[in-house]
Amino acid sequence: MEISKRLKSIPPYVFAEIGKKRQAAIARGIDVIDLGIGDPDQPTPKHIVDAMHKALDNPANHKYPVFGGLKEYKQAAAEWCQSRFGYSLDPDNEVTSLIGSKEGIHNLIMAFVDSGDAALIPDPAYPVYRTSTILAGGTPHFMPLTPDNEFIPDLDAIPQAVAEKAKIILLNYPNNPTAAVADLAFFEKAVAFAKKHDILLCHDLAYSEMTFDGYKAPSIFEIPGAKDIAIELHSMSKTYNMTGWRIGFAIGNQQAVKALAQLKSNIDTDVFRAIQLAAIAAFKGPRDHIDHCNKLYEERRDIAVAALNKLGWKVKPTRATFYMWLPVPKGMTSAEFSNTMLDTAGVVVPPGTAYGPGGEGFFRISLCTDKLRLKEAFERMAEHSIAFEQPAIRK
Ligand SMILES: *Cc1c(COP(=O)(O)O)cnc(C)c1O
Repeated sequence: MEISKRLKSIPPYVFAEIGKKRQAAIARGIDVIDLGIGDPDQPTPKHIVDAMHKALDNPANHKYPVFGGLKEYKQAAAEWCQSRFGYSLDPDNEVTSLIGSKEGIHNLIMAFVDSGDAALIPDPAYPVYRTSTILAGGTPHFMPLTPDNEFIPDLDAIPQAVAEKAKIILLNYPNNPTAAVADLAFFEKAVAFAKKHDILLCHDLAYSEMTFDGYKAPSIFEIPGAKDIAIELHSMSKTYNMTGWRIGFAIGNQQAVKALAQLKSNIDTDVFRAIQLAAIAAFKGPRDHIDHCNKLYEERRDIAVAALNKLGWKVKPTRATFYMWLPVPKGMTSAEFSNTMLDTAGVVVPPGTAYGPGGEGFFRISLCTDKLRLKEAFERMAEHSIAFEQPAIRK
């Protein structure tokens, strides 16, 4: 048998590969500290788990769910957005359920990108933007995110011919992997750009609540007129420590929401009802666990910033996400650095190239590990002289 050209055209999923290396290191007896994947280490809050237990006991919830999400789920999502961002949504036409935003990104790209079309994708970025574009037969056009542009794409640098062929532009702030945030002025520009070229703007807002030091992340729909052209993907994964549950939602432009829901209805059969009911409990429940987790991430961030500065990196505190995006030491590629970290220090860090060609020269760490293990990771780096700049030799 032979796999499709389509499948051959994309690399294996990066975290599946990193996971294999990690397992191999563990098999060699190495005590591995994983600063790799972004998956909250804290449990799903109890009131959400309790709602799931209750929903499971009702046989009515065992049946096929309705396409697009339960009315109550879409209503609760719309109310959550109203209280969080201050705008109203029509739950019937401007909200649709997702089996997590990863699924939403893929199916949205499938619904909008044909062979020969371009998709405007940040580089580095969450890998699914690129691979789903390729699976759809489209061509990714990379918008570089660099320290010089503060990891915000320069929309004016996109060639006219590319903008004409583009069907979708993908943005993600707070950003994975760079931890950058964007302000409303940039979103306003992005909305104007999408309108000018008549392309769909997809904003991936997976980290809307994971923010520090009083920073609040905006939604694209805080820009007047954004609904004419934009869709925004929300996820319960990072906000409510629900990565394994697989639930999220898309909001915004009716035509885009409808297209996404229509495509999905041919492929999946929506989210298990009991999970939707648990998610409603999340929307309506207290926010204190979000603050609690953000405090934890903030503490870990401060530990990482202090330790990395000691090792020669020049790191400023991040304002959002549990990631840090750092340059590799001079004279090394991202892959070499990532391998060195695992082989000599037993620490998993993804190479920047996992997020696109523009990630060369960088690596990412995630702060999903408790303080003690995190500290140990940096101690091991110091022990093995893994530093950005070798400390000056004392005379
Ligand atoms: C984690 C993540 C997602 C995926 O979230 P799910 O809802 O669990 O599928 C999407 N986008 C970005 C940028 C992420 O980091």
